[in-house]
Amino acid sequence: MIHAEGPLLSVDVDSQETTEAEVDDVLASYVGGRGVGTKLAHDRIPFDADPFGPDNSLVFAVGPLQTSMMSYTGRISCTGLSPLTDGLLSSNAGGFISRPFYDTGYAAVEVTGESDELVGLVVTDEGVSFEPVPELESATVSETNEYIESEHGLDESHTAVVGPAGENGVRFAAIITSGSRAFGRGGLGAALGAKNVKYLAFDGDSRPDVEGLDDELVREIHTEASESGSPMKDAGTVSVSDYANAVGALPTRYFEELSYDELDEIGSAAVIEHKYKKGTCSSCAFACKLPTRDEESGIETEGPEYETMMSFGSNAAVDDFVAIMKSNELCDEYGLDTISCGDAVAAYLAAEDEFGNAELVHELIEKIAHREGVGDT
Ligand code: SF4
Repeated sequence: MIHAEGPLLSVDVDSQETTEAEVDDVLASYVGGRGVGTKLAHDRIPFDADPFGPDNSLVFAVGPLQTSMMSYTGRISCTGLSPLTDGLLSSNAGGFISRPFYDTGYAAVEVTGESDELVGLVVTDEGVSFEPVPELESATVSETNEYIESEHGLDESHTAVVGPAGENGVRFAAIITSGSRAFGRGGLGAALGAKNVKYLAFDGDSRPDVEGLDDELVREIHTEASESGSPMKDAGTVSVSDYANAVGALPTRYFEELSYDELDEIGSAAVIEHKYKKGTCSSCAFACKLPTRDEESGIETEGPEYETMMSFGSNAAVDDFVAIMKSNELCDEYGLDTISCGDAVAAYLAAEDEFGNAELVHELIEKIAHREGVGDT
């Protein structure tokens, strides 16, 4: 089987020591970054480890196609014990970080232990630097990315960042990469935050060669991605919402209903109206990412994706697309999973008979990220 090449780098943020191990047998036996990360995390994390404790590990791993120019390959997995479920969880993110990650020469990077102080980790093919960053306590994702760029000249395509939500231990905190892409599900941002790690940045010039790729097949798939007429290219994943609404599968008013009369205000048409350029992940010609902008308010974000539109839109009965853009942007800045956060907010709106109150939605996101008042329940 074609597989990624390179050792596992283990980074202990407690002792600030690193070790390397050959994991060729794992790379050869498990498919892609998710398979490799799951096997390594399963074998290396003690069965009864606390997801918030030093024994939990987060394993970042990629598959072999990082060396190709093929579409759909700009992906990376992060695997560890979930603070939300206590189970082993693998979360996959797009964006641009998978290539700089593999430029380090490592097939997998494990972060373990717990630091006494807030640190950033810069992982390169020349080693790991542990940087105390007390000044970044409670910094948003964009503030942290600005810091990394000014200190290291590495832009957000190189970074994986914990926002205030992860530092505060919110169980559905995300790790944000490339500014707006997320290792979103299951709270791995809280697991990294519990280690007192604010960010990882990857860089290098040692991307391993991978033998055996079929160049003709790579070209075919890339061309097909480029020429596809999929509606996702126009409206992103929100393009599935019309179908979901028509067949009664669009969660609405905190799952009390399954279709939303106001979908036209927040669905595909709204994305198309507000998008201002195309977005993508590394080398992907399909390019389903759609940065959006509201000229009047100045709000810019990416998408939102279907699940974000659902959780902060139909499920909260918010029919204001710009308000959903703002919810998405707040989650990206604070480092929150939009699905779990949106549905938690929708549950609160249902309990308080406040469906449709977009201002309250934004207040609740802030409270959740900082674990204040009802945001800490
Ligand atoms: S641009 Fe879309 S299709 Fe391409 S890798 Fe990213 S998420 Fe996947």
